[in-house]
Amino acid sequence: MASARTQTLAGQRPRSLWLQEALARPGEKDAPALQGEARADVCIVGGGYTGLWTALRLKELEPSLDVAIVEADVCGGGASGRNGGLVLSLWSKFPRLQETWGTEGALALGRASAGAVTAIGEECRRRGIDAEFREDGYLWAATNEAGAGSWRHTLDALDRAGVSPFEEWTPEQASARAGSTMHRGGVFEPSGAVVQPALLARGLRREAMAADVAVFERSAMTGLRRAGASGWKVVTAGGAVTAGTVVVAMNAWAVWFRQVRRHVLVLGSDVLATPPIPERLAEIGYRDGLGVSDSHLLVHYYRNTGDGRFVFGKGGGEVAGRLVDARFEGASRRLAEVTGQFRRIYPNLADVPVELSWTGPIDRTMLGLPYFGPLGGRQDVLIGVGYSGNGVGPSYLGGRILASLVLHRDDEWAGSPLAGGPRGWFLPAPLRQIGGRMVRAAIARTEDREDAGRPPRALDRALVSLAPSGLALHHGD
Ligand SMILES: Cc1cc2nc3c(=O)[nH]c(=O)nc-3n(C[C@H](O)[C@H](O)[C@H](O)COP(=O)(O)OP(=O)(O)OC[C@H]3O[C@@H](n4cnc5c(N)ncnc54)[C@H](O)[C@@H]3O)c2cc1C
Repeated sequence: MASARTQTLAGQRPRSLWLQEALARPGEKDAPALQGEARADVCIVGGGYTGLWTALRLKELEPSLDVAIVEADVCGGGASGRNGGLVLSLWSKFPRLQETWGTEGALALGRASAGAVTAIGEECRRRGIDAEFREDGYLWAATNEAGAGSWRHTLDALDRAGVSPFEEWTPEQASARAGSTMHRGGVFEPSGAVVQPALLARGLRREAMAADVAVFERSAMTGLRRAGASGWKVVTAGGAVTAGTVVVAMNAWAVWFRQVRRHVLVLGSDVLATPPIPERLAEIGYRDGLGVSDSHLLVHYYRNTGDGRFVFGKGGGEVAGRLVDARFEGASRRLAEVTGQFRRIYPNLADVPVELSWTGPIDRTMLGLPYFGPLGGRQDVLIGVGYSGNGVGPSYLGGRILASLVLHRDDEWAGSPLAGGPRGWFLPAPLRQIGGRMVRAAIARTEDREDAGRPPRALDRALVSLAPSGLALHHGD
């Protein structure tokens, strides 16, 4: 089905703050690499949240099932160990959900995704995963005048549908809770949470191994071939797993498959972290685990950590070509831009140094929503991809959906609107990179002007309107 082709895989240094912390924990060591031939009922390719939640759910539903995970790097080496750690519902994408699946479908997805946030906290407690999960809410804020009220359309749609997951905050309220007067108001969702992302991924790995899932790390799939009547062969450098069903949980790296490339545009997202500054955070009033993202299309997202660091990220970075390459690994290449925005939004932390930065790929779909289902029409090769920067919470749903699809269950998960495969497509390469870069540059110019209180240029405004359902990370309309 697919032949070996090189793309840069996770695992290049320096790693994220989260992975450095998680991998330094006592008892952490790599699972073995795949050597020789192995068999499984289900082989999952990719050991991030999607792969790990899927494996755990499969073992919960059918304990006798043989499940294997083949991970190119270490589990959590991809986006699951590098993200901002904001655990969010899909309520902020309500107009998009409604437009696509009607009010009932949108309500069901909103509720399921909010339930996933709570469920992740419960799973951490139940399984003894200390992932520093803090459910102190999420603030969708404006950090310039142009962004103020950008949530109105979403609030109105939610209101008409009879639900109110958000409370509207004044600039004073938002500024007081997020610790900077640069906040021009926002909407607060009490059910949002933050997590130490890599501790969650590594904890799920531990649980999967304890449930007898065969985990192979540093074992990149280099080919996927038909294996007669017995299913598929997932080939790695050291061996192969033959399995009846394959689940592709490769996130942005799934653009390796031609069938995914048209539906997923890979963009970078970049994160910086300060040293621990707990007294400074207390001074500015940013004390709890509030997660914040703003209304910029090249979104800013931020939170603090249990030990008092400030972590600040920016979406809409590098645009990938056909494959995910080295630009999506290691330290951020646009640290100056990200630091500049951190300093703009937090002038009261202007003297705080940046200790480290990292980057990672975002798997953006046209709708800004993930999709699940057969890859290339094959019922025994399933894929889940396209979280578009909001995957920490929704990947929990992804695990349930994929497990139900693998087992051919007729339940609410297999029947989820997200299980209907991809919707919308991007231009083929190289037009997508050229177009993507032009639109991205126009957004950056527009947002720079708006940050300075100046109106955007007419040509840029026209280009910005071409952005796929917003390049925004967390909200999609
Ligand atoms: C910088 C950044 C910030 C983000 N911030 C947030 C946020 O605050 N909130 C939020 O909800 N979402 C955020 N996201 C998105 C979120 O992290 C992802 O949606 C989520 O982690 C997806 O999980 P996954 O398991 O599908 O992907 P991943 O964790 O990326 O897992 C895919 C795995 O597949 C492996 N792989 C790739 N190729 C192969 C191969 N050939 N063979 C075997 N394995 C392979 C990779 O090594 C990787 O471990 C962010 C993402 C990034 C990059």
